[in-house]
Amino acid sequence: MSQQQMMKQFFASIPPDAVLINANENPLGPCEAARSAIASVAGKGGRYDIKEMMTLVEVFASQNSIPADNFAVYAGSSEPLHYSVLSYTGPTRSFVAGDPTYEAGGRAAEIAKAKVCPVPLTKTYAHDVKAMAAKDPNAGVIYICNPNNPTGTITSREDILWLLENKPKDSMLLVDEAYIHLSDAQSVVDQTANRKDIIVLRTFSKIYGMAGIRCGFAVAHPDVLHKLELCGQNAMPVTSSIAARVSLEDTSLIPTRKAYIANARNTTLKFLADNNYKVIPGSQSNCFMIDTGRNGHEVMAAMAQKKVIIGRTWAVWPSVVRITVGTNEDMAKFRVAYKEVMDAPPT
Ligand code: PLP
Repeated sequence: MSQQQMMKQFFASIPPDAVLINANENPLGPCEAARSAIASVAGKGGRYDIKEMMTLVEVFASQNSIPADNFAVYAGSSEPLHYSVLSYTGPTRSFVAGDPTYEAGGRAAEIAKAKVCPVPLTKTYAHDVKAMAAKDPNAGVIYICNPNNPTGTITSREDILWLLENKPKDSMLLVDEAYIHLSDAQSVVDQTANRKDIIVLRTFSKIYGMAGIRCGFAVAHPDVLHKLELCGQNAMPVTSSIAARVSLEDTSLIPTRKAYIANARNTTLKFLADNNYKVIPGSQSNCFMIDTGRNGHEVMAAMAQKKVIIGRTWAVWPSVVRITVGTNEDMAKFRVAYKEVMDAPPT
């Protein structure tokens, strides 16, 4: 069954009043300035837009002190993630990634007929950069997700810089910073200014609440961006470029949302600890994981019965489920439902 068919089936089965904390979305949605900007620019939707896209790049480049030529804009970060893996892995060039981590890169590697090399996280659930560097001398791409999806844990900048210096010379380091602003992790985007062996990905789907509007960046040397372009490139939706740009200009957005999500997350983590439920510690993101001690799929199904849709399991940890941090109201409903499910005997 295709991904779209599965999604159709999944959404058909969800009641309209269900709590959706399964897909690491941001229930706060686009900021007010982004909503007004989208409405104001909709009439320009008949043209392939380059102007708004260029303005967005200039704002992002100047905020990060990196040349504008080092940015490519896409409708989300999924495309440059896939393109990076398709461009730099292959039958003789493997894909090295943490385990568990976000799976999209691994799926692209399979399409490229590349070997996928999972590397367990460390005891503190960071990426094990030493093991990743040593995993395969023919690595094509080494993927670091920081903070990591699904654990929400971070890998230090120091460790990522160590990996950059010590990885196999011809490999590409792909650093996915989708959730960086939700955490205290330090970006490595500055490294793209002078090197050809690192790509950093950013998205507006997470803290900026624009998963349904679609905007993301690949940040890399222009030669690297050119190689990605060969996989596909087109104009951005004008609504998305302007919404992303005004979101960047809203200086209160990141601190306000980071604090809101941290508070909702930490309140729930305290509840879980108080009730002796086992959590994978260290999340600084809008998701965290619980070891249910049961079959994770059964827990997901039991939660769905209570109209709380939680995230999935990873093969390496079948009893562990990922929970996205929703609104305070969502998390209050989650806490009630989770206790009820865990108080009932396993099916
Ligand atoms: N990278 C990570 C780590 C993600 O979790 C996601 C989505 O959940 C993406 C990339 C892709 O997001 P988008 O295509 O919406 O930018």
